[in-house]
Amino acid sequence: MERETTGVAQGGVTTPRARLRDGAASPQPVPRLRDSPVSETSQPPRQLRPQNSLASRTGPPTVHPASGTAGLHLRDSSVPRDGPASETALPPARPPPPRPPRLRDRPAPPPTRPQRTTAEPVHPSPGIRTAQGCGEDVRQDQQQLLEGISELDIRTGGVPSQLLVHGALAFPLGLDASLNCFLAAARYGRGRVVLAAHECLLCAPKMGSFLLNAVRWLARGQTGKVGVNTNLKDLCPLLSEHGLQCSLEPHLNSNLCVYCCKAYSDKEAKQLQEFVAEGGGLLIGGQAWWWASQNPGHCPLAGFPGNVILNCFGLSILPQTLKAGCFPVPTLEMRSYHFRKALSEFQAILNHENGNLEKSCLAKLRVDGAAFLQIPAEGIPAYISLHRLLRKMLRGSGLPAVSRENPVASDSYEAAMLSLATGLAHSGTDCSQLAQGLGTWTCSSSLYPSKHPITVEIDGINPGNSDCWVSTGLYLLEGQNAEVSLSEVAASAGLRVQIGCHTDDLTKARKLSRAPVVTHQCCMDRTERSVSCLWGGLLYVIVPKGSQLGPVSVTIRGAVPAPYYKLGKTSLEEWKRQMQEDPAPWGELATDNIILTVPTTNLQALKDPEPVLRLWDEMMEAVARLAAEPFPLRRPERIVADVQISAGWMHSGYPIMCHLESVKEIINEMDMRSRGVWGPIHELGHNQQRHGWEFPPHTTEATCNLWSVYVHETVLGIPRAQAHEALSPPEREKRIKAHLGKGAPLCGWNVWTALETYLQLQEAFGWEPFTQLFAEYQTLSHLPKDNTGRMNLWVKKFSEKVKKNLVPFFEAWGWPVQKEVADSLASLPEWQENPMQVYLRAKE
Ligand SMILES: [Zn+2]
Repeated sequence: MERETTGVAQGGVTTPRARLRDGAASPQPVPRLRDSPVSETSQPPRQLRPQNSLASRTGPPTVHPASGTAGLHLRDSSVPRDGPASETALPPARPPPPRPPRLRDRPAPPPTRPQRTTAEPVHPSPGIRTAQGCGEDVRQDQQQLLEGISELDIRTGGVPSQLLVHGALAFPLGLDASLNCFLAAARYGRGRVVLAAHECLLCAPKMGSFLLNAVRWLARGQTGKVGVNTNLKDLCPLLSEHGLQCSLEPHLNSNLCVYCCKAYSDKEAKQLQEFVAEGGGLLIGGQAWWWASQNPGHCPLAGFPGNVILNCFGLSILPQTLKAGCFPVPTLEMRSYHFRKALSEFQAILNHENGNLEKSCLAKLRVDGAAFLQIPAEGIPAYISLHRLLRKMLRGSGLPAVSRENPVASDSYEAAMLSLATGLAHSGTDCSQLAQGLGTWTCSSSLYPSKHPITVEIDGINPGNSDCWVSTGLYLLEGQNAEVSLSEVAASAGLRVQIGCHTDDLTKARKLSRAPVVTHQCCMDRTERSVSCLWGGLLYVIVPKGSQLGPVSVTIRGAVPAPYYKLGKTSLEEWKRQMQEDPAPWGELATDNIILTVPTTNLQALKDPEPVLRLWDEMMEAVARLAAEPFPLRRPERIVADVQISAGWMHSGYPIMCHLESVKEIINEMDMRSRGVWGPIHELGHNQQRHGWEFPPHTTEATCNLWSVYVHETVLGIPRAQAHEALSPPEREKRIKAHLGKGAPLCGWNVWTALETYLQLQEAFGWEPFTQLFAEYQTLSHLPKDNTGRMNLWVKKFSEKVKKNLVPFFEAWGWPVQKEVADSLASLPEWQENPMQVYLRAKE
């Protein structure tokens, strides 16, 4: 149920748990449970509104065959020259660097503060030169750094981040097969930097040869001291082993020629940058996913301490992770991948000039481009210029009309345009013109944003242990900005504003029915803020877990009202009025326990939302009862429909995501009562699964169905055999026999077979033992870490609860019951009705 990413993070935190209950706790897009379709549908995909076919209006960018010469400039001639870094001509392969000085050339330490002003970078900053200076020098640097190495084994126990190589003098050293970078280097001013995507890479003996090369390259032949920060002390013996003198240092100091440290503190950022600019060598490592998971709503490219140090070197650490492995040293061709070169080629393609991009480069460009756009551009003319240039590029070619009917392949130019446009809008660049007549899946209409500010009262209390989205009942149209304001007290409470509810990131999907990322979060750490998202969407205020803020007034200008029905609050007249006005394309049906986010077209068919929401509340009460959770829930669950989701037919999480086809299933009371709602309750069951009594992967797709069975039987009056065809008596019997026929191997105890064990217990002892045990488990600590330990605990707890020795029963199912546990339960009465006996006897 929970995917654990084992990794060594900073500060002794070892394992970030990506909880299904809390997307925000995940370092990555939340790992979702992959569900096989729970119901078949023959319905054709529904369209929210007629789509204007933008494809026919602008057409996809024509792709010209490559000529091989792509000397194209990322230059926007319409934009005024921004400063020293803007383009005037194709830059030299390598900017005019001061020849790397020999040791003796170097200003004697401690150096006078750099001889440069802010207007005049000493270093040809990672300004947006067109193609990267991937010339002979870079190749030589790469060669020197990878000398004598045939493979890079980065399986060191830590989960690395991906690195973004964006500076003209930055280059990759270690890449996986998809060109995701885990080792990189750069020249900066007179000095050099080597970056590893996890600090473990800087202490692993198997990285020894590389580290030695790195320190030598960083030292540039100087004989000065190599200083290793005390928190990286395992690096010292590695270097000493190879005869390199090094010392442990609490801080950077002026006697060093190379300094090695982790990327988790920016206290010395300025000193480190000056140190490198003046000729020092910096070996640095760290990952950014943990920081990203701990700082939702903050941009890791801007705020992660490592990036505060590194961005100016043309290197950044991304929140995306990379699967550690043993990788061959990248080929010359792979090594020559560079974000800016790819962007330059891409521009040529969009301009119908000669441009050529391999599929793998294009996929990489999507990720890199979106990331690069998040680096704060303020005050860096070259970056601002690139943002404008991209906007012009995208406006010129027009964004593709992506929809269910017109999906785009994820490795297509269109997909890259969607990602770049999303990133550009998130960067704060005005993209209103880009969005005009977008005709996307969100559908624009004749709506105009209200000129008058709308004030909504939200509940700023969140007693739960996960962040809560609070609906505002407002919708932001695509490409528009909303001005959000709140009180000073509220601005210091950690609130965030989120635009859009379709939070599944589809970056890894092969085909896209919408842009991969269509939501955006902003921290409300000030009293006023302008927020926007290219794709528009419902507006939410995210109240962090544990917030005690109380009622908050939030004033929003520039949004439109969206359909919103709250059980017990909204009158039928009010609902009818909402439906008659031209409403926003998405709306919500809410109770204190569940909120359903669906297209307005579906809501318009709903004459009165009250009966279906009463039924939902009854079902939610049952969900809470079985789980021994308080009711009303501490935080209402959410189900959001989307044109495409990241995994399966539906998946659990917050929100639970489903396809548009499932909307009818969840808002039609009569259908729900007669046909049931297996899938959505299955996902709600997933959200109730707890580590203590879960034995993944065996029970992951089993115990969640206890909730489906319980809700169908106790609320809907649908017996289990009818609730799901897999639970018909013949099917169940066949399954038991098949499992026993194979000798009851634990590896075969999964999904329905595993559920059977629990159903047999439930049929004999009722639901009470489950409810009571779920309550008891909430109070237990120090639970066994392994399945065997936890399974034995369950055997013991369940036996004690029902006062029967269930050891023979669980053993019949193939559970590895330990002798001590069996002995401790031997005094309990035998379970004479053990339903497995029949099968075991028959087998004998
Ligand atoms: Zn599932």
